[in-house]
Amino acid sequence: MLVSAPHRVATEQVLAFVAAKSDWIRGHVEQIKQQPDQGETLDWHKLEEQRAALQRYAEQRLPYWAERIGVEPLEVRIKKMHSRWGSCNIRSKRIWLSLMLADKPFELVDYVLVHELVHLHEANHSARFYRLMDRFLPNWQRFDKELNPNRRRRL
Ligand SMILES: [Zn+2]
Repeated sequence: MLVSAPHRVATEQVLAFVAAKSDWIRGHVEQIKQQPDQGETLDWHKLEEQRAALQRYAEQRLPYWAERIGVEPLEVRIKKMHSRWGSCNIRSKRIWLSLMLADKPFELVDYVLVHELVHLHEANHSARFYRLMDRFLPNWQRFDKELNPNRRRRL
């Protein structure tokens, strides 16, 4: 253990202080040891890698789907979104994907991309919207169940 104290404080005083506080210090050390894995920095790096991988994949798929669906999106970007998997800004033609997709199978990323791109044709979740989904991604309902079993997060 390293104790830092101002120079003017005598060593004896420091030792006395440490002795007096030893239970408190020991308690804190134990508390720190019991905290779940101190790997926050590592996880952050992992998250950044995942974000980059998701961004690369989405950028690669965007022109493919845009051409099939017949829309002209500006770009796809990733951000932290907890309540939804993706969103589409119809005016700026920008597609947003949730960082939560980073550890999902790529086919589910495609599903969200298609959903958001179809919004460039049809803003609402109307019958027409779902007809377009059926046309461009006939399996979309299977992907939807996989991604959203409890329907808690929106697209
Ligand atoms: Zn939608």
